[in-house]
Amino acid sequence: MKRIKLLLFLSLIVFSIGAQTRVVAHRGFWKTDGSAQNSIASLSKADSIGAYGSEFDVWLTADDSLVVNHDRVFKGINFPEATAAEVASIRLDNGESVPTLAEYLNEAKKYPDLRLVLEVKTYGDDSARQTLACQKIVDMVDASGLRDRTDYIAFSLFACKELHRLSPDRPVYYLEGDLSPKEVKELGFAGIDYSYKALSKHPEWIEEAKNEGLEINVWTVDSPEIMQELIDKKVDFITTNRPDLLLQLLN
Ligand code: MG
Repeated sequence: MKRIKLLLFLSLIVFSIGAQTRVVAHRGFWKTDGSAQNSIASLSKADSIGAYGSEFDVWLTADDSLVVNHDRVFKGINFPEATAAEVASIRLDNGESVPTLAEYLNEAKKYPDLRLVLEVKTYGDDSARQTLACQKIVDMVDASGLRDRTDYIAFSLFACKELHRLSPDRPVYYLEGDLSPKEVKELGFAGIDYSYKALSKHPEWIEEAKNEGLEINVWTVDSPEIMQELIDKKVDFITTNRPDLLLQLLN
């Protein structure tokens, strides 16, 4: 009997640890000295503060190279229309070059506890470029050996479907915020990754997602009050530009 009680107690502890909201650093941890959005430094700094995951954005250049950056047009260079050499000429605010995806993944190998949350950018109506971007990204992640700790996110529903088709055992989260959890579940995705604004229009989606067995990630939350509200609602992940602040709230 004592043993059963002990087992129950231990499983309760495991359950409560598992239920805690996890911290995803938005574009890495960049609001700190020596860092910049989507830089190699932002990845190492996300790991150094103990973030669960680090989010980053990936573009396919016109000459079919994969590079890490958020903006479509950044420092005068239009990423999907530029060559890899043009992108390599850009300096980030911390002095780094724009990382290639290969460089970024290589760095990520140093941080085995860090989850990679890879956003596939959108190519409008160009389904051929979108398909190629998804294919090349999945191939590179798989070849890097980081498949098991990479999650995929995208605003494009088409891209999410492609990612799910190419990597059916990996979590895919939809970002756009216009589908109910039931619809997302039917598509086979792992969860919703919606803005706080989108979720505020449909507060019932948090419970609905839980009932559907989907995970819930909310972006981009930098206010401590909203962080606390979402922690209390037991969302699975919060994506934030202030992972340091969120970690303080959780500890
Ligand atoms: Mg992003």
